[in-house]
Amino acid sequence: MKQQRAARPSLALPLAAVAASALALALGAVPASAAASPPPSAAPSAASSVAPTAVHGAADCRLPAAVGGLGSGFPVDDQALPAVGTLKAALLLVDFDDHPASAGSAQEAEANLASGVEYLERVSGGRLDVTTTTSDGWVRMPEPSTSYPFERGLSYEDHVRYIGDAIAAADDTFDFTDVDVVWVTATKEAPNITYSPTTNFLDVTADGNHLTHAVTFGYDQWRWGGLVLAHESGHTLGLPDLYLFEAPPEDPGNYHAAVGGWDLMGLISGAGPEYFAWHRWQLGWLDDDQVVCAGQGRTTSARLAPVARSGDASPGQDAMVVYPLSATRAVVVENRQPVGYDEGIGARGALVYTVDTSVRSGEGPVRVVDATPGSAGGLDDAPFAAGSSWTEPTTGAVLTFRAGPAGTLKVTVNP
Ligand SMILES: [Zn+2]
Repeated sequence: MKQQRAARPSLALPLAAVAASALALALGAVPASAAASPPPSAAPSAASSVAPTAVHGAADCRLPAAVGGLGSGFPVDDQALPAVGTLKAALLLVDFDDHPASAGSAQEAEANLASGVEYLERVSGGRLDVTTTTSDGWVRMPEPSTSYPFERGLSYEDHVRYIGDAIAAADDTFDFTDVDVVWVTATKEAPNITYSPTTNFLDVTADGNHLTHAVTFGYDQWRWGGLVLAHESGHTLGLPDLYLFEAPPEDPGNYHAAVGGWDLMGLISGAGPEYFAWHRWQLGWLDDDQVVCAGQGRTTSARLAPVARSGDASPGQDAMVVYPLSATRAVVVENRQPVGYDEGIGARGALVYTVDTSVRSGEGPVRVVDATPGSAGGLDDAPFAAGSSWTEPTTGAVLTFRAGPAGTLKVTVNP
């Protein structure tokens, strides 16, 4: 889902929001302001003496953000919440005069989102700790559900009114003092609360706390489950949408032509919903000494742990290889194996992609290289199998991939 903010004259894009559909992710682009902010607290670690393959100097590969707002560059957007430490969430369960919640359904609503919290904590390698405080049962909204025009594509102003109404309705019995993000989930009985927008620009004050980040969970949560929470939380932490807001002309209708199902920010229902290693590094969930930065003119090797295990990889195992092509573009190689949230992937091996920090959310900041272009599986079989190689077309660098022990992958870059 796109992230919402107030329109500014200099950034007057249409909200172009559409109602939820089977392609619930294909929504219009909304830019955010230019950003300058402190980086996520990824403390650069001393080089490990047990990582002989690593060529350090990760700073050379930390591509600076070349667009404001949500994106793939360093640092993350200044409006993002910290991705390391404790995130305090208020979960408000709301129902309506025209659609009261059914008895006993509060636990069902909480349970549906719980797997999203678990995802964030697991994928962060335990660096993000989410504490959720839930409203005391269902909070009755002041307006009927039909007064919130989800079916027309909720504007920023409508969304702020919806969240603000929920906060006001809960405020008598809920303490917002320390809250970082407000999650409002509507009863399953209200089908016209259709989809799940996010804003990092809420601008509502409660209990003296200026609340800036909010996610609405609409009816689509019952289709996608807790991974809706994990995707929308990616935006509150600064991550871009990786599906395409506009399908490529040469591939009409394919909003997933950039990354397929290889990252939760691209496709919630994808077979490989682990966050890309690049974005874990951007969020501070990987240390610099887990990143092998390949340079021009020298051969570089790395031994990659499966991405799903990068949070607790063994000493000497790296998380990714980065080969910069320019000040804003790099090739990234990571190891995708059927473990963790990737357990359902079909093809395994070296997933190669380009990151471009000058490309906005929804316009393809990450693009996966397909090892089998033209195959019927699209990007499902994109990884390069152990024993294969790939030549980067603009530099001629040759990347080779070899199997290692315990699901590891040896990657060599020959410029
Ligand atoms: Zn999104």
